[in-house]
Amino acid sequence: MRRQAFIGVLGLCLTRLCLAQESAIAPIAPGTPAASHSVVVRARALIDGTSAQPRANQEILISGDRITAVYAAGTRPPPPGAEVLDLGSATVLPGLIDCHTHIFLQGEVPAAGGYDIQLLKFPASYRAARAVVAVRRALEQGFTTIRDVETEGAGYGDVGIRQAIDEGYIPGPRMFVSTRAISTTGGYNLEGYAPEIVVPKGAQLIDGPVEARKAAREQLDHGADWIKVYMTHRSWVDEQGALVSQPTLTVEELKAIVDETHGWRKKVACHAYNGIGLQRALDGGCDSIEHGLELTDAQIAQMVKQGTWLVPTLAVYYYDHDPPDTPTGKRDRKRVEVHGISFQKALRAGVRIAFGTDVGGFVWTDPIAQEFARMVEFGMTPMQAIQSATSRAAELLGERGRLGVVAPGAYADLIAVASDPLADVNALKNVAFVMKNGVVVRSALASAGK
Ligand SMILES: [Zn+2]
Repeated sequence: MRRQAFIGVLGLCLTRLCLAQESAIAPIAPGTPAASHSVVVRARALIDGTSAQPRANQEILISGDRITAVYAAGTRPPPPGAEVLDLGSATVLPGLIDCHTHIFLQGEVPAAGGYDIQLLKFPASYRAARAVVAVRRALEQGFTTIRDVETEGAGYGDVGIRQAIDEGYIPGPRMFVSTRAISTTGGYNLEGYAPEIVVPKGAQLIDGPVEARKAAREQLDHGADWIKVYMTHRSWVDEQGALVSQPTLTVEELKAIVDETHGWRKKVACHAYNGIGLQRALDGGCDSIEHGLELTDAQIAQMVKQGTWLVPTLAVYYYDHDPPDTPTGKRDRKRVEVHGISFQKALRAGVRIAFGTDVGGFVWTDPIAQEFARMVEFGMTPMQAIQSATSRAAELLGERGRLGVVAPGAYADLIAVASDPLADVNALKNVAFVMKNGVVVRSALASAGK
């Protein structure tokens, strides 16, 4: 079986774990080693995802796809037959988690046709092929888990990509998917075409609580792990210079979705910039606010009280600003201006913040980890930013203790970086070693392995 046939593309294969065993007809293996197989990873510095400080000279014992023990290096002999991976002077961390991705988007670069061309001119197969590349890029960059928050007109494509990864046909992170997303009439692209022409929409549009609940049921039925709702859509700057966002669903519509989704023991992520739509998102019981560009003090207090998560996606708003003297240019700049302040206030107030980037909204060739530096710029310590992408993100996903930590019982998802990310968080842009489910999928560390 070709367990990791892509390894040659990603980097050196340094361990027998990822040795390709060629077979003419077998699919790539599920990427999960035999439960009896043991690996010891030696870490000069370990950031475990929850501790306030890194731990020096640790060994991580892995059996199959799980971490079974973490202890001071040299205090236990490796189990008989165990692989030993000495990662030299690198810093080891849990696999990273991006809670806001779009694998079916390829940036919205105006010169490349922007958003619309992706729905109007790209065949579904082409979009799926590029999504396969996107998930590989995420994994290569150390993101071993993603929450993909809708396919932008590509239907249930994310469900199939998730399955292909889980079955080992393609490399990629473990995925939490939200399928089509939900908005209202007038609440999502494509728009601006002649009324006589029917164009595809990037989300499932509903009007009324009955349609809202039905859409949630359909999406859950077809494999959604999360439901994504757009609670605001268009935005602009008004005469007073304030950012205004068009609200979409009513509280009643949203409540129908939240009630249905929570009944399935799943959660609802709400895109919301500010104003009426954001207030409805909170009053309707959203589990996570995506973007949250402009949160009032009262809204922040409500988020703290309700335990609502914020997934800020700071970096994406620095892309592709229109000229400053145009309405959209003014809006682009205003969004950035209010976003940082909002993030700082939420952070100070103790809002639960999880790492998310909106990658796909920017191209997959750019570093996903650029978001860390923005979080630090607006007040997080590097350790807080790292935890937002590890243990905190895992909490948002309902995977506390299983993902985002290097601790017994967790999945063996590890990364390593050559320089200290606590000194410069941009070190996370250069992830040199990635293990998912106990299988090495990338290793470019000169001193790694044996
Ligand atoms: Zn998004």
